[in-house]
Amino acid sequence: VSGALAITIDVDGEAGLPNGGAGAAHRLTSRSERAYGVVRGLPRLLGCLDDYGAPATVYVPGVVARAHAGALRELAARGHLLGHHGHTHRRPDRLSPREQREEIARGLDALAELGAVPRGYRAPGWELTPVTLAALAEHGFAWDSSLMGDDRPYPVSAGERTLVELPVHWSLDDAPYFAGSPAGAGLWGVWRRELELAAAEDRPLTLTLHPEILGRPHRADVLRRALEYAGELGMELVSHAALAGRAAARG
Ligand SMILES: [Zn+2]
Repeated sequence: VSGALAITIDVDGEAGLPNGGAGAAHRLTSRSERAYGVVRGLPRLLGCLDDYGAPATVYVPGVVARAHAGALRELAARGHLLGHHGHTHRRPDRLSPREQREEIARGLDALAELGAVPRGYRAPGWELTPVTLAALAEHGFAWDSSLMGDDRPYPVSAGERTLVELPVHWSLDDAPYFAGSPAGAGLWGVWRRELELAAAEDRPLTLTLHPEILGRPHRADVLRRALEYAGELGMELVSHAALAGRAAARG
């Protein structure tokens, strides 16, 4: 076995619209595309993962956890991992310190209603701040997955404590590839090479998927291809909890 692949899914739902979807109640088409992600795209992606015995790490905002409680409860019951993705999906860098702390506390409450106690966090819009990091430390989080400072897990200071950072990058996220073209030009070339290099360098790789984007029928083939290729390269399929545990054990 060489290297590891962590599939993460950001289930933004209707809260993925700008500013957490505030003022967008009348945008039925945009809201329906988001809802499609939760009710159709997510089961399709999870089906692919199940076929390869791969765990998903699913980051979800509190309001989405409440709106789609049944789907998310089922996902957790199937052994996938739930992570905190804010409460309203508003970017931390655009909130006051008090609002940032409320986002963490309220998101935790919403996930607790599903029976989940998340130990990992991902900032909406990947805009993490020192205030939010400190709030994570106060609530006992073990890892964050919002920063881009390395190819490997690394320590990040969070108030009085140190958390594990499981780094991400826009090139390893489905969204930018489909922002300008429905065909996602260039995605597979980049992800295939990133898989090869992570395996060759024996390090973990985190891919970030959005169910309303990669969960469309023809696009889910990209996930199958990635899982198939990771298997050929001898990569282990892991959750973020496993990666954070190993990084913490190594110090
Ligand atoms: Zn998000």
